[in-house]
Amino acid sequence: MTAMFAGVLPASRIYDPARLDAYVASREFDRPTLVVDVDRVELQYNALKAGLGRADIHYAVKANPATDVIHRLVQIGSHFDAASRAEIEICMGQGARPETISFGNTIKRVSDIAWAYEAGITLFAADSEEELEKIAEHAPNSDVYIRLIVEVSQADWPLTRKFGCDGDTALRLLDYAKSLGLNPVGFSFHVGSQTRQASMWAPSLDALAKIWHAAKDAGHDLSLLNIGGGFPAFYDEPIQAPTDYAAAVMQMVTEKFGHVDRIMAEPGRGMVAEAGVIVSEVMLVSRKSDRDMHRWVYLSIGRFSGLAETEGEAIRYRFETERDGDPMGPCIMAGPSCDSADVLYEKRPMPMPMTLKSGDRVLIRNTGAYTSTYSSVCFNGFPPLDVVCI
Ligand SMILES: *Cc1c(COP(=O)(O)O)cnc(C)c1O
Repeated sequence: MTAMFAGVLPASRIYDPARLDAYVASREFDRPTLVVDVDRVELQYNALKAGLGRADIHYAVKANPATDVIHRLVQIGSHFDAASRAEIEICMGQGARPETISFGNTIKRVSDIAWAYEAGITLFAADSEEELEKIAEHAPNSDVYIRLIVEVSQADWPLTRKFGCDGDTALRLLDYAKSLGLNPVGFSFHVGSQTRQASMWAPSLDALAKIWHAAKDAGHDLSLLNIGGGFPAFYDEPIQAPTDYAAAVMQMVTEKFGHVDRIMAEPGRGMVAEAGVIVSEVMLVSRKSDRDMHRWVYLSIGRFSGLAETEGEAIRYRFETERDGDPMGPCIMAGPSCDSADVLYEKRPMPMPMTLKSGDRVLIRNTGAYTSTYSSVCFNGFPPLDVVCI
């Protein structure tokens, strides 16, 4: 079987949790590097799939578009949610069929819509009249779903008002889509990224189900519900395990929406975050005065080279060093650039070893999502986050 199906995983492949750390420990890295264990992504896909049941998983490519990650997900049957032509090209380049890719951004370039249509993409998102007109003109007769606004997100990284429309607008858009010759199939939403417990979905699902039922009562033939992302990763607060979490969400969806022909879920963070670790180093440890309670720890990676989600201290990463057995003290964590916004944690300082010094390696755990894609090209001459998939 191995020769004939080269590249296809044997079903018996066992995930080795020690492999990532062994790889990291055995190598030198001369710049901040995200190391992703692709087997771990597969494990997470299977865990989510076990809970999501008959829902199709459309991996949100923006969380981590590394070709090895996409390639593995194609192999194991994942579908994809793409936001741009470039993301669609990454997926198709790894063998994803166009009918498994949704063009889920509600803000699409006209030339990207036309290109995607030519490439065979048939499912598009919209939350406005003008976007429907763009789709009708450049991807005629396509399936479209209308994105609803989520008002009551309990997420650590809410997406709230930028995307979606309210219920009345959504109903009007279904009619409008039809009048333009499109095929309006249903609704989508996103509860907000890093929604730590499934129970936090309940208020949003209640509000969204009302709109769903109102649309059905108004005679719309809805066949698709896209429940978006929001599946959490473990940072510093407890989260529900992926299978339990996904199963609980699906149970609520069934209770509140009734039977739906086709359900899509779009995990991004929950699929890849825990598969990755960033290897960085301490550039400097200092105190601003003799009376200063806090030390400042400057790392080789910061806000502009991958850790954008520390904005507002929303996502609190876990740092690990070889001195973690030593006494700890509170530190303000910052990046290396000459920009005063490049501070990671100041409101809630981070306990770090008192013995920490420049040159020490710092691992940043569970950083496989929303790091490499947020890294700037080369701000201040500091290199962007490198990515290695194992
Ligand atoms: C970013 C995004 C996702 C993924 O969200 P996570 O919280 O990372 O799971 C899913 N759907 C859409 C439309 C997105 O923009």
